[in-house]
Amino acid sequence: RAKDAGRNAIQLFRTTMQHAASARLQMENDLRQALLRHEFRLHLQPQVDARDNRIIGAEALLRWDHPKLGPQSPGLFIQLLEESGLIVEVGDWILREACRIGAYLLNERSVDAGAFSLSINISPRQFRQSDFVEQVMRAIGASGVPQRMIKLEITEGIVIQNLEDTIGKMNRLKKAGISFAMDDFGTGYSSLTYLKRLPVDLLKIDQSFVRDAMAGDGDAEIIRAIVSMAASLGLEVIAEGVEQQAQLDILQQRDCHLYQGYLFSRPLPLEMFCELLDSSLARAAGPTHPA
Ligand code: C2E
Ligand code: MG
Ligand code: MG
Ligand code: MG
Repeated sequence: RAKDAGRNAIQLFRTTMQHAASARLQMENDLRQALLRHEFRLHLQPQVDARDNRIIGAEALLRWDHPKLGPQSPGLFIQLLEESGLIVEVGDWILREACRIGAYLLNERSVDAGAFSLSINISPRQFRQSDFVEQVMRAIGASGVPQRMIKLEITEGIVIQNLEDTIGKMNRLKKAGISFAMDDFGTGYSSLTYLKRLPVDLLKIDQSFVRDAMAGDGDAEIIRAIVSMAASLGLEVIAEGVEQQAQLDILQQRDCHLYQGYLFSRPLPLEMFCELLDSSLARAAGPTHPA
């Protein structure tokens, strides 16, 4: 009967919600343990100059291998970290681990600190901590990595919260030699006014514009607009999510030569990244005995 069916539907809904809530709670608990159990890793995705195929840097990306469920999607678990506040603690680990990797690349892998930057993603909640600047400086100090090798990736979400506080923190870090990238650029509010006031060094063209760059429905024009805006503000620009040569061609035609994407390489574990780096350095050095 209709009434019973309705009651059953509500019951099913409740049960489903309860399952979802307890699954979420379980995940949060697992995430809480993950740090202690060393289940997090940073992978590195190369950033490339398309003009000479040189690796100019890398973005550190968080990976979590769940002990029972296997690798988890960063998009989902990072949101959970953010909402639960765990991102503050995990973010500190990310900073320390990334700086440690930076120092390793410099000292053991003959990377040139002036020609290679390591980009670290910073979540809004982490950035908003009152001692964020100190947190960054401590991580850098403990690793011995040069400040100028470190780039922090922030999103427009950070800015909306409190512009003055954001600018203040960024300026203190900039003074120490650290640089900033605006991630996922073009997807948020992207007000020119705040972009002019924020001490960012680099705009990262969001992958959504790159994905459809060939479709002819305006994304190629948006890319052109971002590139010329960056040029007039004296900022560098890099494209993310480049998967196809045709996308890279369009970017280069619009004067965007720096890119990141599967076309060159997926994010890699440190050891594999180092192998790629070595072969790229060898290629750049050219043959030792010219024919
Ligand atoms: P994001 O910072 O914009 O990172 C770029 C994302 O694009 C990464 O996804 C990367 O694996 C992916 N990607 C790179 N090249 C390609 C490509 O050619 N095609 C496609 N389809 N995707 C590509 P990932 O690793 O899943 O990370 C997703 C997001 O999670 C990141 O977006 C960032 O917002 C966040 N995230 C990742 N690691 C960290 C971290 O250490 N800390 C914080 N706070 N957030 C992080
Ligand atoms: Mg990023
Ligand atoms: Mg991005
Ligand atoms: Mg993104």
